[in-house]
Amino acid sequence: MKVGVIALQGAVSEHIEAVKRAFLEMDVKGEAIQVKGKRELKEVQGLIIPGGESTTISRLIEKSGLSQMIKDKAFAKMPIMGTCAGCILLAKEGDLEVNKTDTNLLGLMDMKVARNAFGRQRESFETKLEIKGFDSPYKAVFIRAPAIEKIWSECETLATFEDKIVLARQDNLIAAAFHPELTNDTRVHKLLLNMIMNVDF
Ligand code: GLN
Repeated sequence: MKVGVIALQGAVSEHIEAVKRAFLEMDVKGEAIQVKGKRELKEVQGLIIPGGESTTISRLIEKSGLSQMIKDKAFAKMPIMGTCAGCILLAKEGDLEVNKTDTNLLGLMDMKVARNAFGRQRESFETKLEIKGFDSPYKAVFIRAPAIEKIWSECETLATFEDKIVLARQDNLIAAAFHPELTNDTRVHKLLLNMIMNVDF
């Protein structure tokens, strides 16, 4: 099994390491690779769009021709997880902060996201989340994090913080407003890996 991490900007190596740790803990043979272009994207069975700067990542995935291919793979049911900036890019709608920067959203999940939703005073913080399906609290790291303002249709809330949705799932897609690659707890990455092992696409 090969999992790719979009490696154009942002928190790439941390995700690669987290996927490797999750593979080890699950006793599954797998590889985590950087995806910089179409050639690598063709090879993977699962994908992570990392945190970073959503405007920059959106520009770079357009420029590298990856945008349409990510959408095609998503429609073909390949599991994809977007974290922080990646969470923003998965959304169908953005708030004013997203729209005024001309960010090209991939538009794959039935949700509206708000950029930098936790305010300037709290650029980064850690908190324990109750995540649906997890048997104990999960320590989450938020860095200039977005929030999922609204979901509709098939999109499902997996965790909230201060009345804001911070983890959501829609079929083969997962959006996390926080950074699961920055803690040792691999449970969120395992959600993605389990999805990859259970789908045929
Ligand atoms: N605030 C950033 C953005 O809007 C996201 C921050 C992050 O990914 N850590 O793109």
